[in-house]
Amino acid sequence: MRVCVGALRAAVPGGLRERFDFGGRDVASWFPRHMAKGMRQMQAALRRSDCLLEVHDARIPLSGRNPALKEALGIRPHVLVLNKMDLADPRRQPAVLELLKQQGCPQVVFTDCQRDVGVKKIVPLVARLVAESPRYHRAESSEYNILVIGVPNMGKSSLINSLRRLHLKKGISLWCQGSGRRWGTVFLASMTVPLFPPGKATTVGGEPGITKAVLSRIQVSEKPLMYLVDTPGVLPPKLGDVETGMKLALCGAIHDHMVGENIMADYLLYTLNKQQQFGYVKRYGLDQPCDHIESVLKSVALAQGRTQKVTVLTGTGNVNVTTLNYTAAAYEFLRDFRAGRLGRVTLD
Ligand code: GDP
Repeated sequence: MRVCVGALRAAVPGGLRERFDFGGRDVASWFPRHMAKGMRQMQAALRRSDCLLEVHDARIPLSGRNPALKEALGIRPHVLVLNKMDLADPRRQPAVLELLKQQGCPQVVFTDCQRDVGVKKIVPLVARLVAESPRYHRAESSEYNILVIGVPNMGKSSLINSLRRLHLKKGISLWCQGSGRRWGTVFLASMTVPLFPPGKATTVGGEPGITKAVLSRIQVSEKPLMYLVDTPGVLPPKLGDVETGMKLALCGAIHDHMVGENIMADYLLYTLNKQQQFGYVKRYGLDQPCDHIESVLKSVALAQGRTQKVTVLTGTGNVNVTTLNYTAAAYEFLRDFRAGRLGRVTLD
């Protein structure tokens, strides 16, 4: 459903908002301080790597990437992996590629790591870029070491698993140096990589003193011999402005409760309307697009059965009534967006 925005503004009861009111929110508090540690680990790991694989969400190809990377990019080949392409609007891909090229980021691969789409391009591309660039202190080595970095929840673990599935026909397998013991789950700089069926997993980070020994390298390809350097970096995103923070939160890089489900749902509705992505109208049984979040959440709550029982005190005693649970509805709305049930949307 695509209509002229002007006509839509006039047709939607109450009209469409021209801009979103963030209510003076402060983004500085949205990201945990320990993220700065990720940056330091990343810089150390960079010295042992030949190439940087930066994983970011294809729904926010321009927002939230860390500016501190720029320094690193000057000295190592860099590939930007825009993951979760299955959730992003494919019509935006050419414009996104052009914009990224203008920003000095020409090597971009779109992937869907859950279905191993696009991932096969990465190893040959990395091999070519490293071959074309001086290999610094590693000139004598025939191995490739790559560093996977990105803000949380963009799909770094999934990418590693996908690379292993495609090139080695297996999942992650790490050996504890010296002891020969294998661990069920590795915890790499806040990134959990599951390798055994749930229930058998062990968290390496929970075993004091051995974490460093375990986190050596992860092989992702045999020919060419390619490894992921230890401590794939979890970066703090660039939270320059509140809108960037909101987009990152919608993509799951910031905990919902830090930002607030209700305002996130409202911003999502504003964005969907602005982009004429009206999948929500049908899904929640609305008559037409609507720019009023409470009305939409009411429909979500009714359509998805999000209700709660509350006790009302009256003059004649307590009465139990069932009301709509707007916060649960907001969460449902966000979940539907994140699962692609409201359509493929690029937020930038
Ligand atoms: P990390 O924190 O960067 O390591 O991210 P994860 O690999 O743990 O992925 C975060 C979430 O995104 C998980 O729920 C994954 O299943 C999901 N995910 C990862 N890659 C994709 C993808 O390409 N498409 C979709 N739809 N979901 C993905």
